[in-house]
Amino acid sequence: MLFQMTTRLYYTEPYRVHFTAQVRERLSWEGHPAVILDQTLFYPTSGGQPADRGALNGIPVLDVTVRESDGAVVHILADELREERLEGAIDWPRRFDHMQQHTGQHLLSAAFERVLGADTVGFHLGTQVSTIDIACARLGQEAVTAVEELTNQIVWEDRPVVTRFVTSAELAALPLRRPPAVAGPIRIVEILGPAAHPEERFDISPCGGTHVARTGEVGLVKITGLEYRGELTRIAFLCGRRALSDYQARFEVTARLANKLTVGYWELEQTIERLQAEEKRLLHELRQARERLLLAEATELAGSAVAVGPYQVICHLWEQPGRPPEELRALALALTRRPGTIALLMAISERTHLCFARGEDVDIDVVPLLRDCCARLEGKGGGRPHLAQGSTPMTDPRRVGAALDTALHSLYNIVAR
Ligand SMILES: [Zn+2]
Repeated sequence: MLFQMTTRLYYTEPYRVHFTAQVRERLSWEGHPAVILDQTLFYPTSGGQPADRGALNGIPVLDVTVRESDGAVVHILADELREERLEGAIDWPRRFDHMQQHTGQHLLSAAFERVLGADTVGFHLGTQVSTIDIACARLGQEAVTAVEELTNQIVWEDRPVVTRFVTSAELAALPLRRPPAVAGPIRIVEILGPAAHPEERFDISPCGGTHVARTGEVGLVKITGLEYRGELTRIAFLCGRRALSDYQARFEVTARLANKLTVGYWELEQTIERLQAEEKRLLHELRQARERLLLAEATELAGSAVAVGPYQVICHLWEQPGRPPEELRALALALTRRPGTIALLMAISERTHLCFARGEDVDIDVVPLLRDCCARLEGKGGGRPHLAQGSTPMTDPRRVGAALDTALHSLYNIVAR
């Protein structure tokens, strides 16, 4: 890796922002101008870590990647770069954020190995959240807490993070957490012991990424999610500034909620449980009150019944705002519990709903009656001999009223037969 086309300055100087370089090659990369330099501070997308951003002679660097064939670092530019010698600058806040997340990942992976003996088999440094995949099918909250505690303990001990290149022969003698993914001289990253016991190394692993110099700079490591994926568990985590931003956002939300409910944030859970229980009780009461109201309404409607042969027929149309079909049905059922009763109910809202019903002791099938009424209004419906429902887009009160009158007349004819 050391002896490639581009000298990678970030290996030895991860805190440096400005550099000068010579253009080695100009090329076009996916439709954009691009350059390869003799040396660079720009980190190219690799090993789960996204590329740096910044500028070369003031021209924005859109992306940085590695050319497979020779390992050259390709800087993809927003515009053509004319000069041979140039000054480059990386976007430092973005770089430092990546250093915090990436070093945090080493700490977290080492802690998972120490606490659970679980290897890290994948890493992704995302724009919002980063993840590692660990070789452990299921883990409890207790284990997660233990890993988080250990990780942050190492952060607070502010241990040195050192990187160096080793030969394959030296490598064989090192207790690496995972084997290197590349051949040749290998870059290793070590998290050493605390000040009093520097020999008590916490982690050693091969890595080409950018890291902070001391674990204290990671600030805080917070696990924010677990996702079980067969034999693996995906752990989402935040480090440094990202962890603070997350804390600020959550603090604001809980403070606002607590303020709204005039309780302390620690009382939010029991307050919400109390509100949910209250809502459930009120809904139950509301349902009962509605049922009582419908029964009272049915009694009132029964007073308007007309005699058709031996039967009592209740014929009613509700104009806008109408009422929902389930209420029509409940009213029809309440009415037809009375002896010898037939109910022809219609309500106009966004559509017109129909519900025809008859009591057990009435020998009439209401389905043809309802179908005929629906057909007159260009609607559809159906049901069983004692209860049929339908609806139509027709909402003209005169036409709907006329259809109901026709249904009543048909009923007269049926009973007279
Ligand atoms: Zn690393």
